Amino acid sequence: LGQVEATANRIAHGDLITRLPDAPYDDEIGRLCKAINQMAEDLTKTERMKNEFISSVSHELRTPIAVIRGYSDLLARWGKTDEQVLGEAIDAIRTEADNMKSIVEQLLYLAKLGSFRLNPTSFDLADAVHEIVDAYDMTSMDRTMTCSAARGLIIYADRGLTVELIRVITDNAIKYTHAGGTISVTAAKSENGVSVSVADNGIGISEEDLPHIFDRFYRCDKARRRSEGSTGLGLAIAKSIAEMMGGSITAKSVLGKGSVFTMFLPLVTPAARRGADAEA
Ligand code: ADP
Repeated sequence: LGQVEATANRIAHGDLITRLPDAPYDDEIGRLCKAINQMAEDLTKTERMKNEFISSVSHELRTPIAVIRGYSDLLARWGKTDEQVLGEAIDAIRTEADNMKSIVEQLLYLAKLGSFRLNPTSFDLADAVHEIVDAYDMTSMDRTMTCSAARGLIIYADRGLTVELIRVITDNAIKYTHAGGTISVTAAKSENGVSVSVADNGIGISEEDLPHIFDRFYRCDKARRRSEGSTGLGLAIAKSIAEMMGGSITAKSVLGKGSVFTMFLPLVTPAARRGADAEA
């Protein structure tokens, strides 16, 4: 027992390499050893994820910082007198500052989601979908948008988050579909739940990229997308929201043909939700 206590203390003080030897018996001490080892394993995993996260954020911010630095050097040397250099530098610095702002805002949103308390209410998913679609001014965007959602799809979920999720995939469908393309949003009842699909006939996603699009900072065309202000965080946010609500989000796509993103939410009754909350 002394060894168990000493090891637990070492782990508590940050030594994440230490483990207890496998206990030979399945008694209380044996199970305690196993639990302590599992805890050390989980802590190691969390620590690794934290480090990976910090390193990817630093990497993402390095490029805009380098561009801003480069253009301010250029300005300092020649820009004050050269109108063209001046204009180009100001544009680039403004764009990069906007990129950093989007990255930081979306990261803060992701972090907030981690401790977000769901606020479920009963509402008609079809109403929400129609509201989202109606809010886009498609005439100014040169794309066609159709919406098929029969009223009466009552669900019990967090309305704000549900809307946010649908908006992320609809924004993407518009962003990655050329002028003249079509975006169809459909909401329907499915087996023990509801689903919302957003289909587009836009640029599509390659087979190699598809498994990664929900990863943080993943963009299919890194250089171009970055300059267009995409952060690669939208789908990571969408996935977090879907999982928080006990649902899921999937994507199907063919490069050059288009994509379909489908969000699924289980049908939860207020009573079942109260039960789940009480358990948690
Ligand atoms: P962002 O759009 O800010 O880059 P997302 O996480 O929303 O970040 O999307 C990740 C990547 O997935 C995008 O960079 C894009 O390459 C690809 N993508 C997402 N939605 C679509 C779509 N509807 N059609 C084609 N590509 C898409």
